[in-house]
Amino acid sequence: MTDCIFCKLVNKTIPTRVVYEDEDVFVFNDINPKAEVHLLIIPKKHIENMLVLTEQDQPLMGKIMVLANKLAVEHGLDKGYKTQINTGPMGGQEVYHLHVHVVGNK
Ligand code: AMP
Ligand code: ZN
Repeated sequence: MTDCIFCKLVNKTIPTRVVYEDEDVFVFNDINPKAEVHLLIIPKKHIENMLVLTEQDQPLMGKIMVLANKLAVEHGLDKGYKTQINTGPMGGQEVYHLHVHVVGNK
């Protein structure tokens, strides 16, 4: 997806400070943080949102959720945090590349 801003971050066309990356997943700081910690966790492959998920995405989504907790704790959110996935126009989604917000204060 050449016109997707999050794909451009993954491909490093637009520079960003990478929080975590592996073969499947990319994590970076939200440009407009809502709390002390505000991470965005995205699959490297372009998936628009939850509406287009299939059974095949189950391991990937499981991996993302387990990673969300690991990174939250590593960033000092061991007393708890919020996760949010905005989906589609009625879900307030602004960027159409699936992402999990991890938001919290220490
Ligand atoms: P939403 O699609 O409603 O979950 O919101 C998209 C989120 O992406 C917002 O919190 C934005 O601040 C964030 N965002 C948009 N562009 C960038 C970017 N280039 N780098 C980091 N975060 C971004
Ligand atoms: Zn994308």
